[in-house]
Amino acid sequence: MPQYTMTIGGASVSGDASFGVVDPALGTVHAEAPDCGPGQLDAAFEAAALAYRSWRKNENARRKALHAAGDLLMSKANELAPVLTREQGKPLKDAAFEIIGSGYWLKHFADMAIPYEVIRDDDAAFVEVIRRPMGVVAAITPWNFPLMLACWKVAPALLAGNTMVLKPSPYTPLTTLAFGAMMREVLPPGVLNVVSGQDPLGARMTAHPVPRKITFTGSVATGKRVAEAAASDLKRVTLELGGNDPAIVLDDADPARVAPKIFDFAFQNNGQLCSAIKRVYAPARLYDDVVEALAAVAREVKVGNGLHEGVQYGPVNNKPQFDRVTELVDDAVGRGARAVAGGKRVEGPGYFYEPTVLAGAEDGFRIVDEEQFGPALPVIRYTSLDDVVERANGSHFGLCGSVWGTDVERASQVAGDLECGTAWVNTHFAVHPDQPFGGHKWSGVGSENGRLGLEGFTEVQVRHRAKS
Ligand code: NAD
Repeated sequence: MPQYTMTIGGASVSGDASFGVVDPALGTVHAEAPDCGPGQLDAAFEAAALAYRSWRKNENARRKALHAAGDLLMSKANELAPVLTREQGKPLKDAAFEIIGSGYWLKHFADMAIPYEVIRDDDAAFVEVIRRPMGVVAAITPWNFPLMLACWKVAPALLAGNTMVLKPSPYTPLTTLAFGAMMREVLPPGVLNVVSGQDPLGARMTAHPVPRKITFTGSVATGKRVAEAAASDLKRVTLELGGNDPAIVLDDADPARVAPKIFDFAFQNNGQLCSAIKRVYAPARLYDDVVEALAAVAREVKVGNGLHEGVQYGPVNNKPQFDRVTELVDDAVGRGARAVAGGKRVEGPGYFYEPTVLAGAEDGFRIVDEEQFGPALPVIRYTSLDDVVERANGSHFGLCGSVWGTDVERASQVAGDLECGTAWVNTHFAVHPDQPFGGHKWSGVGSENGRLGLEGFTEVQVRHRAKS
């Protein structure tokens, strides 16, 4: 079995113990990851605190280092892609795309301006608003896009002058550990520490006295626990949490044109994307056509081991998630929905589930109201536009949404009525390092990416110089 180690203070560190990492295409353990002990976590935070003293002082050096980090990561995409595929399940080409995209994110932030403003310059005073780094950041990530979501944090946090202790999900620790090892070549010791372990390690990080900021991506339930843990020490938090994105198809849409795109955005990464389309609202007049067009794509796509040529969709990442998708589909079918495509697991080893399109789904069904986070998409019929917007908004979630139609102005107005952090028109999950990304309501606190995301890793300092 390949050996993976943590990165603490620039050194390679084995865990006090280890835990198995399952290949979801086979359902069996294929690697061991280090289990970070309490003393090792203290050492990681101490290393980050020590490195912070000099890292924060030289902005140019930070920009150069982030460029080097991005270049190095991109150059290793082919080597790293099978590691990501084996632990996460996604096809090799998607894994390579995630790695290259992560490198791109590091390089893009390397050139981003750190906000600075002179708000007064007169006879009496010169007043600047400066963005200072916060110190040590604790970063915690989920299993769906382990490297990309880590780099959404690493890039702005390090650019702003912070140092970091990063913990990936126990389901997908390997790519992030390998990334940490790679970064030893281009970042000063202690700037980026990568530790791995089970969920309690995350809780120990949020309770630790050293970090001043917690940046967390994961579920709503865990996000609330993170916020509680942070509150007693007034640590700053950014929370990127779950979503239940609606796609509203308007009555002037062409089902044949929009359905394949909606399918892509619903099943990307096998539906395991915070901002995948998770429920489709189709007008009664077009309902059957939308359902059939989605199902036609679902029946055609190739599901299989992500390491194999031509596979478009891999397995669900882990057994609990696989069981959850199964349970939500069974619940919907039990309440009268019809699986027009899929509807059951793929026989054999691994956590494969058929791409599933559910007709006859309704608000109030668990798969409509909850986050399924898997390859199953409910389609809900509507008759009144006002009513459907209300139903789309009638959720604790508010991550993203999209509106699909031929009259773009009208679609855009409807998008404006959605209570969510990003509202797209005729697309979904179009993201960019300059574009802030965050959720309303239970989908999050704060933003990642863009100027707002960068500011989230800083504290404001007003510097006021008297002139007289
Ligand atoms: P999760 O909440 O179970 O775990 C996320 C991370 O938190 C893991 O690293 C886990 O080990 C750690 N953790 C667990 N308990 C903790 C605790 N008490 N304190 C601190 N850390 C703890 O989520 P998951 O199942 O890995 O990921 C799926 C969820 O993530 C979905 O809800 C999805 O929508 C969400 N997500 C959101 C975004 C976004 O940007 N909004 C992006 C991707 C995924």
